[in-house]
Amino acid sequence: MCHLSTGDMLRAAVAAKSPLGVKAKDAMDKGELVSDDLVVGIMDEAMNRPKCQKGFILDGFPRTVTQAEKLDEMLNRRGAQIDKVLNFAIDDSVLEERITGRWIHPSSGRSYHTKFAPPKVPGVDDVTGEPLIQRKDDNADVLRSRLDAFHKQTQPVIDYYAKKGNLVNIPAEKAPEEVTKVVKKVVSA
Ligand code: AMP
Repeated sequence: MCHLSTGDMLRAAVAAKSPLGVKAKDAMDKGELVSDDLVVGIMDEAMNRPKCQKGFILDGFPRTVTQAEKLDEMLNRRGAQIDKVLNFAIDDSVLEERITGRWIHPSSGRSYHTKFAPPKVPGVDDVTGEPLIQRKDDNADVLRSRLDAFHKQTQPVIDYYAKKGNLVNIPAEKAPEEVTKVVKKVVSA
Protein backbone atom coordinates (compact mmCIF):
# COMPACT_ATOMS: atom_id res chain seq x y z
CA MET A 1 0.00 0.00 0.00
CA CYS A 2 1.26 3.45 -0.87
CA HIS A 3 0.96 5.67 2.19
CA LEU A 4 1.96 9.28 1.61
CA SER A 5 2.25 11.29 4.83
CA THR A 6 3.23 14.93 4.39
CA GLY A 7 4.34 15.11 8.03
CA ASP A 8 6.63 12.05 7.67
CA MET A 9 8.16 13.44 4.47
CA LEU A 10 8.71 16.85 6.05
CA ARG A 11 10.27 15.33 9.21
CA ALA A 12 12.62 13.25 7.01
CA ALA A 13 13.60 16.41 5.11
CA VAL A 14 14.24 18.27 8.37
CA ALA A 15 16.38 15.38 9.72
CA ALA A 16 18.37 15.30 6.45
CA LYS A 17 18.77 19.10 6.58
CA SER A 18 17.76 19.24 2.89
CA PRO A 19 16.82 22.66 1.43
CA LEU A 20 13.16 21.68 1.80
CA GLY A 21 13.73 20.67 5.43
CA VAL A 22 15.49 23.93 6.21
CA LYS A 23 12.51 25.88 4.81
CA ALA A 24 9.93 23.75 6.67
CA LYS A 25 11.57 23.44 10.10
CA ASP A 26 10.64 26.77 11.63
CA ALA A 27 6.89 26.45 10.92
CA MET A 28 6.87 22.81 12.08
CA ASP A 29 8.60 23.60 15.36
CA LYS A 30 6.01 26.30 16.03
CA GLY A 31 3.05 24.07 15.12
CA GLU A 32 2.17 26.22 12.11
CA LEU A 33 1.49 24.96 8.63
CA VAL A 34 4.30 24.82 6.08
CA SER A 35 3.62 26.84 2.90
CA ASP A 36 1.16 25.41 0.38
CA ASP A 37 3.76 25.54 -2.43
CA LEU A 38 6.22 23.38 -0.49
CA VAL A 39 3.78 20.65 0.48
CA VAL A 40 2.02 20.60 -2.88
CA GLY A 41 5.44 20.19 -4.54
CA ILE A 42 6.47 17.21 -2.39
CA MET A 43 3.10 15.50 -2.78
CA ASP A 44 3.04 15.97 -6.56
CA GLU A 45 6.47 14.35 -6.76
CA ALA A 46 5.60 11.57 -4.29
CA MET A 47 2.57 10.52 -6.33
CA ASN A 48 4.93 9.59 -9.16
CA ARG A 49 6.55 6.83 -7.08
CA PRO A 50 6.22 3.50 -8.94
CA LYS A 51 4.51 1.81 -5.98
CA CYS A 52 1.85 4.54 -5.90
CA GLN A 53 0.59 4.01 -9.43
CA LYS A 54 -2.32 1.79 -8.36
CA GLY A 55 -3.58 4.22 -5.74
CA PHE A 56 -2.53 5.82 -2.48
CA ILE A 57 -3.59 7.02 0.93
CA LEU A 58 -2.87 10.68 1.58
CA ASP A 59 -2.20 11.35 5.26
CA GLY A 60 -2.20 14.92 6.58
CA PHE A 61 -2.82 16.39 3.14
CA PRO A 62 -4.61 18.54 2.05
CA ARG A 63 -4.74 20.85 5.08
CA THR A 64 -5.87 24.07 3.38
CA VAL A 65 -8.49 24.76 0.72
CA THR A 66 -5.70 25.88 -1.66
CA GLN A 67 -4.03 22.47 -1.19
CA ALA A 68 -7.38 20.74 -1.82
CA GLU A 69 -7.83 22.66 -5.07
CA LYS A 70 -4.27 21.87 -6.17
CA LEU A 71 -4.88 18.22 -5.30
CA ASP A 72 -7.90 18.21 -7.61
CA GLU A 73 -5.62 19.50 -10.40
CA MET A 74 -2.92 16.90 -9.65
CA LEU A 75 -5.47 14.10 -9.74
CA ASN A 76 -7.17 15.39 -12.91
CA ARG A 77 -3.80 15.42 -14.67
CA ARG A 78 -3.35 11.77 -13.70
CA GLY A 79 -6.91 10.75 -14.53
CA ALA A 80 -7.37 9.78 -10.88
CA GLN A 81 -10.03 10.66 -8.34
CA ILE A 82 -10.64 10.70 -4.60
CA ASP A 83 -12.64 7.72 -3.34
CA LYS A 84 -13.14 8.84 0.25
CA VAL A 85 -12.05 11.50 2.68
CA LEU A 86 -11.76 10.27 6.27
CA ASN A 87 -12.16 12.88 8.99
CA PHE A 88 -10.93 11.58 12.34
CA ALA A 89 -13.32 13.63 14.44
CA ILE A 90 -12.25 14.22 18.03
CA ASP A 91 -12.70 16.88 20.66
CA ASP A 92 -9.67 19.11 21.32
CA SER A 93 -9.84 18.34 25.05
CA VAL A 94 -8.95 14.67 24.48
CA LEU A 95 -5.88 15.40 22.41
CA GLU A 96 -3.40 16.72 24.97
CA GLU A 97 -3.20 13.41 26.83
CA ARG A 98 -2.96 11.44 23.57
CA ILE A 99 -0.26 13.66 22.11
CA THR A 100 1.96 14.15 25.14
CA GLY A 101 2.07 10.39 25.86
CA ARG A 102 2.91 9.41 22.28
CA TRP A 103 6.23 7.69 21.52
CA ILE A 104 7.33 6.75 18.01
CA HIS A 105 9.69 4.29 16.36
CA PRO A 106 10.91 6.55 13.56
CA SER A 107 12.04 4.02 10.95
CA SER A 108 8.87 1.88 11.00
CA GLY A 109 6.32 4.53 11.98
CA ARG A 110 5.06 2.31 14.83
CA SER A 111 3.60 4.42 17.58
CA TYR A 112 3.00 3.78 21.26
CA HIS A 113 1.39 5.59 24.16
CA THR A 114 2.70 5.54 27.72
CA LYS A 115 -0.83 4.92 29.08
CA PHE A 116 -2.97 3.53 26.25
CA ALA A 117 -0.51 1.37 24.26
CA PRO A 118 2.74 1.05 26.21
CA PRO A 119 5.71 -0.77 24.70
CA LYS A 120 6.85 -3.97 26.48
CA VAL A 121 9.95 -2.15 27.70
CA PRO A 122 9.57 1.62 28.30
CA GLY A 123 11.24 3.69 25.58
CA VAL A 124 12.01 0.68 23.37
CA ASP A 125 10.35 -0.61 20.16
CA ASP A 126 8.73 -4.06 20.68
CA VAL A 127 9.87 -5.45 17.32
CA THR A 128 13.41 -4.15 16.82
CA GLY A 129 14.48 -3.21 20.36
CA GLU A 130 15.49 0.20 19.01
CA PRO A 131 14.89 3.40 20.99
CA LEU A 132 11.60 5.29 20.69
CA ILE A 133 11.44 9.06 20.33
CA GLN A 134 8.92 11.78 21.09
CA ARG A 135 8.10 14.24 18.32
CA LYS A 136 9.39 17.72 19.06
CA ASP A 137 5.91 19.16 18.38
CA ASP A 138 4.08 16.64 20.61
CA ASN A 139 3.90 18.90 23.64
CA ALA A 140 1.03 20.92 25.13
CA ASP A 141 2.36 24.31 23.98
CA VAL A 142 2.90 23.45 20.32
CA LEU A 143 -0.34 21.44 20.32
CA ARG A 144 -2.25 24.69 20.97
CA SER A 145 -0.83 26.23 17.76
CA ARG A 146 -1.46 23.02 15.82
CA LEU A 147 -5.10 23.03 16.92
CA ASP A 148 -5.40 26.72 16.08
CA ALA A 149 -4.08 26.01 12.56
CA PHE A 150 -6.48 23.09 12.30
CA HIS A 151 -9.56 25.13 13.19
CA LYS A 152 -8.65 28.13 11.04
CA GLN A 153 -7.12 26.45 7.99
CA THR A 154 -8.17 22.79 7.90
CA GLN A 155 -11.80 22.89 9.07
CA PRO A 156 -12.72 24.61 5.75
CA VAL A 157 -11.19 21.61 3.93
CA ILE A 158 -13.62 19.33 5.77
CA ASP A 159 -16.48 21.56 4.60
CA TYR A 160 -15.05 21.46 1.05
CA TYR A 161 -15.25 17.64 0.94
CA ALA A 162 -18.57 17.50 2.80
CA LYS A 163 -20.06 19.61 -0.02
CA LYS A 164 -18.54 17.31 -2.63
CA GLY A 165 -20.13 14.35 -0.87
CA ASN A 166 -17.10 12.12 -0.23
CA LEU A 167 -16.52 12.89 3.44
CA VAL A 168 -16.81 10.15 6.08
CA ASN A 169 -16.61 11.12 9.76
CA ILE A 170 -14.76 8.60 11.93
CA PRO A 171 -15.47 8.79 15.68
CA ALA A 172 -11.82 8.96 16.76
CA GLU A 173 -12.50 9.28 20.49
CA LYS A 174 -13.15 5.56 20.70
CA ALA A 175 -10.48 2.98 21.57
CA PRO A 176 -7.83 2.24 18.88
CA GLU A 177 -9.26 -1.22 18.04
CA GLU A 178 -12.71 0.26 17.46
CA VAL A 179 -11.38 3.11 15.32
CA THR A 180 -9.40 0.57 13.27
CA LYS A 181 -12.53 -1.51 12.79
CA VAL A 182 -14.52 1.48 11.51
CA VAL A 183 -11.67 2.57 9.18
CA LYS A 184 -11.38 -0.95 7.69
CA LYS A 185 -15.13 -1.06 7.12
CA VAL A 186 -15.18 2.38 5.48
CA VAL A 187 -12.24 1.76 3.13
CA SER A 188 -13.47 -1.65 2.04
CA ALA A 189 -17.06 -0.48 1.37
P1 AMP B 1 1.71 15.79 11.04
O1 AMP B 1 2.77 14.75 11.17
O2 AMP B 1 0.71 15.47 9.97
O3 AMP B 1 1.07 16.12 12.36
O4 AMP B 1 2.45 17.14 10.56
C1 AMP B 1 3.46 17.74 11.33
C2 AMP B 1 3.71 19.17 10.87
O5 AMP B 1 4.14 19.16 9.50
C3 AMP B 1 2.50 20.09 10.87
O6 AMP B 1 2.27 20.67 12.15
C4 AMP B 1 2.90 21.13 9.84
O7 AMP B 1 3.87 22.02 10.34
C5 AMP B 1 3.59 20.27 8.79
N1 AMP B 1 2.62 19.74 7.80
C6 AMP B 1 2.24 18.44 7.62
N2 AMP B 1 1.35 18.32 6.63
C7 AMP B 1 1.14 19.59 6.15
C8 AMP B 1 0.31 20.15 5.14
N3 AMP B 1 -0.51 19.39 4.39
N4 AMP B 1 0.37 21.49 4.94
C9 AMP B 1 1.17 22.28 5.67
N5 AMP B 1 1.97 21.82 6.66
C10 AMP B 1 1.96 20.50 6.90
